[in-house]
Order: sequence, then C-alpha cells, then structure tokens
Amino acid sequence: MVDSGCIFCSIVRGEVPCYKVYEDGDVIAFLDIEPISEGHTLVVPKRHCSDIYDIPDDLLCKVMTAARKIAMEYRSSLGAKAVNLLNASGMEAGQSVFHFHVHVVPAYDYMKNRISFRHDASAKSNIEKTQKRINGEVL
Ligand code: 5GP
Ligand code: ZN
Repeated sequence: MVDSGCIFCSIVRGEVPCYKVYEDGDVIAFLDIEPISEGHTLVVPKRHCSDIYDIPDDLLCKVMTAARKIAMEYRSSLGAKAVNLLNASGMEAGQSVFHFHVHVVPAYDYMKNRISFRHDASAKSNIEKTQKRINGEVL
C-alpha cells in the first residue's frame, strides 16, 4: 500500500534519497532534513498510513519498538542524555507530512532541547467539565 504523491512513500521506495539509520521488514528510519537536534530521526512504517488514527495497532507497535531501539542506541553513538518522542496527527496538531511518523529527538542539554508547551488557562478552569464530557456525563 503506497501513496504515489507521498514523500515518505518515495523515500521507502528508494526514489528519494535519505540518510537512513535503521531498516527492518516493516519500518524505516532516517534523519529529518530540518533537524531540531543532532540525530533528529523520523521512524516511519513502510506501508502508507496517514496518522495515528489510521495506523493498525500491530504496525504501531513495530514503529514504537524501532523508535525505542534507535533512542537507546543514540545514547552510546551520539552521547544523547535523553529523548523526546513526538507525533503530530492532523493539520491542527502541526502534521506536515501525512504519512505516519514518530520523531525521535535526542536531547543533550535541558535549556537547549527541552520541549515546552503553552498552558491553556481555559482548559485548566474547565478540567472537571472536560472529564465529565469525556466520560459522557454531560454534553
Ligand atoms: P511533521 O511536521 O509532519 O510532524 O514532520 C514532518 C517532518 O518531515 C519535518 O520535520 C520535516 O523536516 C521532515 N521532512 C519533510 N520532507 C522531508 C524529506 O524529504 N526528507 C526528510 N528526511 N525529512 C523530511
Ligand atoms: Zn506514504
């Protein structure tokens, strides 16, 4: 299953070059062309799945297993001290390539590499209602 307009499918097929760092039967991993830290890697299922809503459980497990193997390996090969594993699924979340991928972002320095989020005050003030909505107790 491939998507002819998909850049990561083209990389999987070998039509577009990449800096490959890992490959098995189901998964390929290569360096991100716009790294946010040294060794920033994209771990990608070979089969085209668009996002977390689309990828089957067994393939997701294979991608995450490879991501962890790569993250562990970067502690010795690159001297990484820590790692962030990230996935954006959907445009509103910032996904820009619509072929599922996990970013493995090695971290070397807290001030330089920590990922920071903006807190949402209204989400905090509504937290109880949010739980009720999730649990189907209020509309
Ligand atoms: P997203 O924004 O979907 O979470 O991440 C997509 C990532 O793919 C970006 O970090 C971007 O730099 C990377 N990327 C986009 N096109 C290419 C490409 O052709 N080759 C490689 N290696 N990375 C790419
Ligand atoms: Zn694809």
